[in-house]
Amino acid sequence: MSVESLPFAPTRTLRPVIGSVTLSLIVAFYLVFVTNRTFWSKAVEYLGAPSTALFLLSIGLFSLFAAICVTASVQYLTKPFFILLIMIAAASARFMDTFGTIIDLDMIRNAAQTTNSEAGHLLTEGFLTHMVLFGIVPSLLIVLVRIKHRPFPQKFKHNIVLILCLLAVFLSVGIANIRTFAATLRQHRDLVATLNPAAPIFNAVRYAVATGAEKNIVVQPIGTDARVIAPMQSGKPRVTIIVAGETARAENFSLGGYDRETNPLLARQDIQYFTNTSSCGTATAVSLPCMFSVYTRANYTHRKGLATENLVDVLSRAGIKTEWWENNTGSKGIADRIAYTSFSDINDPRFCNNNECVDDVTLDGLGAWLDGVKGDSVLVIHQQGSHGPAYYLRYPEKFRRFTPDCRTADLGSCSRQEVVNAYDNSLLYTDYILSSVIDMLKAREDKVAGSMIYMSDHGESLGERGLYLHGAPYFIAPSQQTQIPFVLWTGKETKAGIDQACLQATLNEPRSHDNLFHTVLGLMNVSTKIYEPGLDALAMCRPRTGS
Ligand SMILES: [Zn+2]
Repeated sequence: MSVESLPFAPTRTLRPVIGSVTLSLIVAFYLVFVTNRTFWSKAVEYLGAPSTALFLLSIGLFSLFAAICVTASVQYLTKPFFILLIMIAAASARFMDTFGTIIDLDMIRNAAQTTNSEAGHLLTEGFLTHMVLFGIVPSLLIVLVRIKHRPFPQKFKHNIVLILCLLAVFLSVGIANIRTFAATLRQHRDLVATLNPAAPIFNAVRYAVATGAEKNIVVQPIGTDARVIAPMQSGKPRVTIIVAGETARAENFSLGGYDRETNPLLARQDIQYFTNTSSCGTATAVSLPCMFSVYTRANYTHRKGLATENLVDVLSRAGIKTEWWENNTGSKGIADRIAYTSFSDINDPRFCNNNECVDDVTLDGLGAWLDGVKGDSVLVIHQQGSHGPAYYLRYPEKFRRFTPDCRTADLGSCSRQEVVNAYDNSLLYTDYILSSVIDMLKAREDKVAGSMIYMSDHGESLGERGLYLHGAPYFIAPSQQTQIPFVLWTGKETKAGIDQACLQATLNEPRSHDNLFHTVLGLMNVSTKIYEPGLDALAMCRPRTGS
């Protein structure tokens, strides 16, 4: 049945008609030149402008995108495919252009593992406006037009010739300038990583493939020989509290020299601060499993992390009571085999709103938990910390010391200073949380031999070089995203087993997430073949006689 034979045909014919090839070329042009601001600004920086290379790159990319769009411009597929491309490109462009985010495999994984309340913070007015202007309006135009396709055999021949011509242009442009392009791509791997929507789609496919392959992974045991060498001489249980921080960067810790007092309480505690510590990744989904894994950053992969037992498993096997308290977006599988409490699930109205809780919730039951300790125990507290972009939601009013603070998740609508103020307030609050944990352990020194170890999972960009948030691919990540605070507090008895002058002399040595696994085994006096003293931040300062 032809469209014209329908009774309401006249209204339909009012819709503008466009040839499928013309529309393909327009969509390709839109994707390449409108949704790729970050890509082109990098290309201008790396290739120079005006330059022949830049000109050829524009021609080449347009030809490639046009070839893909023409290939997909078959009846029934054209509109949904183009709209999908435009919506993905619009959403990705918002994050790339505003926050400098690069949407790689880890970023997709992080996004897929995020909680609803966390994702909600990203749906700001700025984001929605951007999506309407750059995603929905162009999509509606595509819905509105009537696409004219040539009759099949003719279209097929015509399109094949056109696609081959476009690909020929792409290849010849590339070959003509191959040296420049090859050198630029090798030197600046972030260029291809920002090509929109090619990079996000490519990485989403990689994520889907990897997730499918990871479904059948069976976790392999490690440290099967793990045992506690000897109890504390005093007979008191050893208790280590591991605070896994969130988004705290070393640069803004006054313990490390930041000129603003963000650690007033910790500064008064008898702690050690390691000034040169790097993270395993730049996002929670990478860093967290990596820091608890036996693998070093150099050897870690997501798959290995999933396929191997981790620190908490080894501690449990050694007979240590091990628990995980979650106030973030989940343990990423680390706590799958131990006792686990999620504060956002409990949603206690004193601390939580919409399943998001301030970190005070983790202190609430801590005293009682410590009072109930019977034997050696390790408690992991996974903090909410400084999770962005809604930093202002991370701290109670009492900690709103640096003002004016950005009171929205739409960081673009605040000044840089307001963003930094809100972020610093969240660190001030973390300072209070950590200091309170230490106070609780100190108050029970007659009953338990306590230690606290704090490491953030990764840092954060706060507008340096136009970057915000975190998750940059490690090879281009700025130090703000990879340099993290590492705080250690040991109670009297544990401290007595460590040469303090020796420890003091190592505080500026390079440390990293690689050290967590072995340092905790050392603190808990666990013996196993997989323990590496070289990675225990305290081993070299521990006399050989044991504790
Ligand atoms: Zn994180």
